[in-house]
Amino acid sequence: MPPGKRPLAVVTGANRGLGREVCRQLAQAGYEVVLTSRDPAKGTAAAAELAADGFAVLFRPLDVADDASAAALAADLARAGATVDVLVNNAAIALKGFNTEVARRTIDTNFYGAARVTDALQPRFAAGARIVMVSSGLGQLTAVAPQLRRQFTNAKLTTVGLFDLVEKFVADVGLGRHGLEGWPSSAYNVSKVALNALTRLLVPTLKKRGILVNAVCPGWVRTDMGGHGASRSVEEGAKSIVWPATLAADGPTGGFFRDGQRLAW
Ligand code: NAP
Repeated sequence: MPPGKRPLAVVTGANRGLGREVCRQLAQAGYEVVLTSRDPAKGTAAAAELAADGFAVLFRPLDVADDASAAALAADLARAGATVDVLVNNAAIALKGFNTEVARRTIDTNFYGAARVTDALQPRFAAGARIVMVSSGLGQLTAVAPQLRRQFTNAKLTTVGLFDLVEKFVADVGLGRHGLEGWPSSAYNVSKVALNALTRLLVPTLKKRGILVNAVCPGWVRTDMGGHGASRSVEEGAKSIVWPATLAADGPTGGFFRDGQRLAW
């Protein structure tokens, strides 16, 4: 990074909730922040509000469920000659109900979304970048039956194998067999179990470039997703996410954290 230039952070799903507050906290910490949103009007407004408060925040469109959108963001950053020092994969949905459609949409956004954006931005990552997967305590391995836990943690698991496992979940829901096969009746929980597994799988490749990748739980936070009754403020939840985004070079990689404390997978 040339002297005087701010490090660059990209945050997904950042027009509201935790993503937006993560943008504010990263900008406050001295980052230039690319606030992304699938809704250009909402994203532009959120970035403009932060910029009006004096923060170095700019908007770019990104629908994490869309390959072309992720590729367009990568191309945009490449044209600008930008390298990414921090990527926060924050965007997610928690839909009501449970059926194949809910399972498919949830997996496409919460799991493949993070995989897709991380993959598209790979060429743009600065040496020593930080990648944060915003997960949840609901994605701990206890969410699935022991036979599935063994598959998610198998030392021979590959990314392709993980995608197959996730596809099996969606198929099992369609067949009405998900309970028999050891899956919970929550696509959200499965999406986060899979996101945690992806975090572990990315470590060896990224380590060669000095890139740290960690999963994080923000706790139960008062956002549209968490609801009014949640125990934590958005500021507290975002702080938990910013911690792995701003680790020192000798910080941990391939871990799962809340408030800087390690969680069991
Ligand atoms: P939120 O208020 O519902 O915000 C979710 C954000 O994700 C919104 O900006 C939404 O955009 C965006 N999003 C959804 N689908 C997208 C897509 N396809 N492409 C791009 N953006 C998309 O949720 P939150 O509470 O801030 O949650 C942020 C993260 O924390 C999530 O990963 C969530 O799973 C995790 N988390 C939250 C809690 C909690 O208690 N709140 C607890 C544990 C983990 P739109 O406005 O366009 O819908």
